[in-house]
Amino acid sequence: MIIPKNIWQAHSFQCTCGQVHSQPIKDISITKGALEKLGQVKENLGKTYKKGFIITDSLLYELIGEQIKASLDRGGIPYALCLFDTPSVLPNEASIVRILAELDDTIDFMIAVGSGAVNDLARIVSSRCRIPYISVPTAASMDGYSAEVSLLVLNGIKKTLNATHPIAIYADINILKNAPAKLVAAGFGDLICKKTAAFDWRISNLINGESYCQNTVDVVDQIVERTTTNAMKIAERDEDAIKDLAEGLMISGIAMHWVGKSRPAAGAEHHLAHFIGMKAMMNNKPAHLHGIEVAVMTLVMIEVYREILSRDFETININLAYENSLKKDAYENRIREVFKESAPQIFKENEHKIFGKEEWIDHGEKVKKAMPQIKAEIRSKIPDSERIINVLKSMGAPTKPEELGLSKADLKEAILYAKEVRNKYTILDAAEYLGCLEQVAETVAARMSR
Ligand SMILES: [Zn+2]
Ligand SMILES: [Zn+2]
Repeated sequence: MIIPKNIWQAHSFQCTCGQVHSQPIKDISITKGALEKLGQVKENLGKTYKKGFIITDSLLYELIGEQIKASLDRGGIPYALCLFDTPSVLPNEASIVRILAELDDTIDFMIAVGSGAVNDLARIVSSRCRIPYISVPTAASMDGYSAEVSLLVLNGIKKTLNATHPIAIYADINILKNAPAKLVAAGFGDLICKKTAAFDWRISNLINGESYCQNTVDVVDQIVERTTTNAMKIAERDEDAIKDLAEGLMISGIAMHWVGKSRPAAGAEHHLAHFIGMKAMMNNKPAHLHGIEVAVMTLVMIEVYREILSRDFETININLAYENSLKKDAYENRIREVFKESAPQIFKENEHKIFGKEEWIDHGEKVKKAMPQIKAEIRSKIPDSERIINVLKSMGAPTKPEELGLSKADLKEAILYAKEVRNKYTILDAAEYLGCLEQVAETVAARMSR
């Protein structure tokens, strides 16, 4: 396994997969006292910045504002403050306009202090205004701090837009360890899912020849294992356990830069989470934290994997699977029923979906042929649900779909249609070609709803 020595600095390295992987973030620090680095941007980032612009919310500012100010003061760096009143900042048009209105041309870098939304806002503004930003995570709640995309709610619909990554990330363990319990649990959820995400990536590699990097998978898996081993201590806010979690999430973010796609960090469990998030929004139901949804959906995917990989693939009849599959018109009608006003977005995502008989069967046979190897490689590596459930319970986090407000029918629908939300091949796609998706969805939904 190759891990670059300077993993927390911008780097590139020749990997065993044959590719050169790189990571563009100049400086990442996950330590006690990392906030100190805000006042040392010149030393650490090699550039003199004239004036900072802090984006945060009033609650966080009350908690750590003084420390941030003190660090910047020590470095002699002036700053302006964009303070959102509400504790939960919304990543929408109004918030973007608010930031743009308060920016002025004396400002040459921004500091996003917070977790999800504040970083999504900083990323989009940073990208469009070409003002670099530093991320100061306040919770190890997800793996997106180093991301280059911005998840926004525009016109009431969730959209992911290309944006830019931060120039530096300063994650202070003293701050992370005091984050609300549900944010920490969400972080664990967004880390534990890497196991099933890696399986989905390998499946697409074996079936479709998609480029794949075992080294990246191994690097991420190693830190996931380390974090899981000490995970019962996360709830106690043990500093080492929190640091492991934060580092694991950060490495997962870096791994996405290495391979230029989200494969090492997200698979079908993320599609399921996006699907239930979309449905909740459609039905005006409360949303849950990304990592909380992902945690429960990872438990669902573990069952999906168990169920599918317990089958005997020899007896599968691909012609029959084609006969039972939804043909183009029926598919489109179903998508309109399930996704309502988001249907056009789903059609766009699936514009290359196969409907022609010959092509469909051809792909189905490819899936069937690959399944014995997939089974041999993956079945013994399917994670132990109990271990994950115990950790989530120790944090007071949900472990069952019904705790997210999902009935058995809701979960079955999610397993059936989650793959439509992203054009990214997973075991759920393979299951459709094997003709077993409906049955798997029914069995798993029933098992998880007991
Ligand atoms: Zn590689
Ligand atoms: Zn995620």
